[in-house]
Amino acid sequence: MRSQIIAALGAASLVTMAGLAVQTQAAGRRYAAVDAKRLLAADSPANAGQWMTYGRDYSEQRYSPLKQINASDIARLGLAWYADLSERGGSYETTPIVVDGVIYLSAPWSKVYAFDARTGKRLWKYDPKVPGGYAVKLCCGIVNRGVAVWKGKVIWGTLDGRLIAVDAKTGKKIWEVQATDPTRTLSISGAPRIADGRILIGEAGSEFEERGYMAAYDARTGKELWRWWAVPGDPEKGFEQPELAWAAKTWTGEWWKEGGGGTPWDAVTYDPVTGLVYVGTGNGAPWPAAVRSPGGGDNLFTSSIVALDAKTGKFRWYYQETPQDSFDFDSTQQIITADLVIDGKKRHVVMHAPKNGMFYVFDAATGVLLQAKPFVPTVNWMKGFDPEGRPILNPEANYGKTGKGFYVVPASGGAHSWYPMAFNPNTGLVYIPTNYGSYPLVAEAGAKMGNQLLSINVAKRPQVPPPRLSGTGSYLLAWDPVKLQAVWKQRQGSGRAGVMTTAGNLVFQGWAPFFGTSGPPNLSAFRADTGERLWTADTQAGIAGAPVTYTIDGKQYIAVVAGTSGFGGDYWAPTYARLLVYTLDGKAKLPPPMPYTPPVLNPPADFGDAALLARGETQYNAHCASCHGNNGRVSSLFPDLRYAGQLWSSDAFDAVVIDGALQDNGMVSFRKVLTRDDANAIRAFVVHTANELKKSPPRPFRFGRGFRFGPPPGDASSTAGPDAGQYVPEFHHR
Ligand code: CA
Repeated sequence: MRSQIIAALGAASLVTMAGLAVQTQAAGRRYAAVDAKRLLAADSPANAGQWMTYGRDYSEQRYSPLKQINASDIARLGLAWYADLSERGGSYETTPIVVDGVIYLSAPWSKVYAFDARTGKRLWKYDPKVPGGYAVKLCCGIVNRGVAVWKGKVIWGTLDGRLIAVDAKTGKKIWEVQATDPTRTLSISGAPRIADGRILIGEAGSEFEERGYMAAYDARTGKELWRWWAVPGDPEKGFEQPELAWAAKTWTGEWWKEGGGGTPWDAVTYDPVTGLVYVGTGNGAPWPAAVRSPGGGDNLFTSSIVALDAKTGKFRWYYQETPQDSFDFDSTQQIITADLVIDGKKRHVVMHAPKNGMFYVFDAATGVLLQAKPFVPTVNWMKGFDPEGRPILNPEANYGKTGKGFYVVPASGGAHSWYPMAFNPNTGLVYIPTNYGSYPLVAEAGAKMGNQLLSINVAKRPQVPPPRLSGTGSYLLAWDPVKLQAVWKQRQGSGRAGVMTTAGNLVFQGWAPFFGTSGPPNLSAFRADTGERLWTADTQAGIAGAPVTYTIDGKQYIAVVAGTSGFGGDYWAPTYARLLVYTLDGKAKLPPPMPYTPPVLNPPADFGDAALLARGETQYNAHCASCHGNNGRVSSLFPDLRYAGQLWSSDAFDAVVIDGALQDNGMVSFRKVLTRDDANAIRAFVVHTANELKKSPPRPFRFGRGFRFGPPPGDASSTAGPDAGQYVPEFHHR
């Protein structure tokens, strides 16, 4: 894309941009002086040392032209400085933004920090004071993936659906708007992108049966400029957009009562070459297609990639990656634009590797699917493509209709979820955080997973055995997007951490412990061409977000935020959250890790009869399990209640559960839905499970229910090649 942008701008514009850079230097330190011209020239010498937007530049390639740190000298990489971050209880998913010597990053609870990128001195911190009780409206933690910077402002979204702009220099609020209906279960966890002064943000909430939309706001004022709804509402009320009239024909029943889903909670890429914004939409809601749309239908525009006019929000093209999605196959994973040569022809393309396991290459202007193939060894939800490139669905996968349940491949957590991938134009490879496994799905209308309205019974298993898969687990994949083939797989890399690549023939990625894995959490660098690990550093805390790189005074730095215990990690273990910054010959050291004392399991004696325990289990599963785990499901987000001291006292237990004593921690009062008798039953059930645990301590690894990421390496037996019921569909445009 770079070359096309330069071609489009012409030589005269390049001269102007060089002049702009000189003026910027002369004016001394400028705060977040990002604008459209500067972003277009992200690789020019003046801007090469910046990381100005979530994906570094408009293309979202996460490729930096810097190469002072490279495959030859990487052994000298050491810690330059670190800064402590104080939020706990949720992963740091942020990609730091680095502009003109300042690092901006977001933290759990939608808080934002600014640091001096040279020294690590904290410049300011902003707390939007999201009410702790909002935690119950979130599917996936108190997370935030990043901020946008634009013309002296830092702009981001909050869990309770606000957009906030502060002065980049001081952290003082300039404006704030409510981007969602606060009475609903919509939240913002994604990073806004900015296209020529228009802030683009979507929201999360498909797991609560919401109706998704993408909107643009004026960066100067926060005023909403346009809104695009991802799924049709009640036809009786008319449609907001013309395309929703025909999208409604792909739905049956009364889908609007349950929202339909489609929330575009992460991916949005602005393409200055086409003037389009590419949006990834979320899964259908509730999950089984046959429950939300009982007469069938593809349910547009769920699980799709959609192109909108950046200026007006008008619909331009779409491709539905997972028709009739029943698998939580959001298509919300980050979207990359690039120039590739396919069949001897140079193409400006959109590349996408969503949860459903398929790698897609589209013509960026028209949306024509050029080619597609699984980037994991097999899939089983689709069998092939028709001549137009539409997926041929596997009828057995429509488990809401068959009533038999289904083990979907890849797992519902996604072959690739929100963890950003990267594209290196020098190697021509895309680096994808990849997970390969299966996940059991059994439909039951109205069933919840904790507080999520999924119509999936997580306690039931399909009436068929799990599929036999080879090569399952989590790894970093180097993928050739032209030949559609894996070039290398690196199991020292991760399927659950973001990626950055550089002109130094390097790929950087963090790693966090996970089910069935061991070893210190780390940041590693791999050779971009071969995948060989060249360097690694113990980061004490796991990493989920992506690293970035920048320069100051001619010196290159690598920055990443470490701060996750990882799913399956021990919530009670001491965790750290830090901004870590590395440079060649860096000599800083992290302090020694805090001594760790394992939690003491000390429940009171069992009480209550079988009826009370059964009532407690039902109430626990309905109201507590999504945050605190159940039946061996381990949650890193909130405490394991089996260890809670409040189990000893009904007054202490009620103070939290009914009266909301820990509201500020995110533990809201459940007075509206639970009586004190219910709370007593829950306490009896938790005490019982704690005593069960005490009698039989856990095995080192337990594959719990509700686990959404597929089995660990080696969990499934191995067979050569695809087994029955699995497919490697491939499509090439002719
Ligand atoms: Ca989802």
